[in-house]
Amino acid sequence: MVPRGKIVGPFSCMDLEKKIIQGLERLSDVFKTLLWEKAKNHGISPIQIQILIFVKNHRLELCNVTQLAKEFSLTKPTVSDAVRVLYEKELVAKEFSSADSRRYGLFLTSAGRKITDEIGDFTKPIETILEERADKELETVYLHLTHLIAGLHKKGIIQVQRNCFSCRFYRGNGIKHFCGYLDQPLTHEELRLDCAEHDAIPQ
Ligand code: SF4
Repeated sequence: MVPRGKIVGPFSCMDLEKKIIQGLERLSDVFKTLLWEKAKNHGISPIQIQILIFVKNHRLELCNVTQLAKEFSLTKPTVSDAVRVLYEKELVAKEFSSADSRRYGLFLTSAGRKITDEIGDFTKPIETILEERADKELETVYLHLTHLIAGLHKKGIIQVQRNCFSCRFYRGNGIKHFCGYLDQPLTHEELRLDCAEHDAIPQ
């Protein structure tokens, strides 16, 4: 029997798994390049751009150095430094906790919001290509990506996840899905990667 992903004969090449990994690696390079282009134009680093976009899209409690370090798998000093620069450039501001004056959440200033509006489309070239594919095809890719991300999270390689497969409200078998929080079935497309209602399965 021919192993899955193998081509027999003179064009025989590497396993399909390895080709997928190679493809993901290329995409990761593209992502970094697109981010660098935007970063250069605005005089900030790619990680500072990612922090600004994260702060724009998440609630205050998640926007602190400890959480950001987990989200981006970076050290706290690296994130702390990036946040300091953003703060000094007045792109983010801090709201201090009333219970503990050492704790704070970051939010965007109007200058920070303006930059995120300008740079938020850095993935547009990828989106444009995806838009040309059929919905069914995209749905399948998305399902497999969600499984891959959940698997990496289970192995502790991705630290923070707010996707359905790591949520205690998720009921299903990875093919058919149901959300106990929303009390409704979910299509592949409706699975979430970053859900505000996510509640992690206790370890
Ligand atoms: S609460 Fe959110 S993450 Fe959890 S199963 Fe429902 S949609 Fe998915």
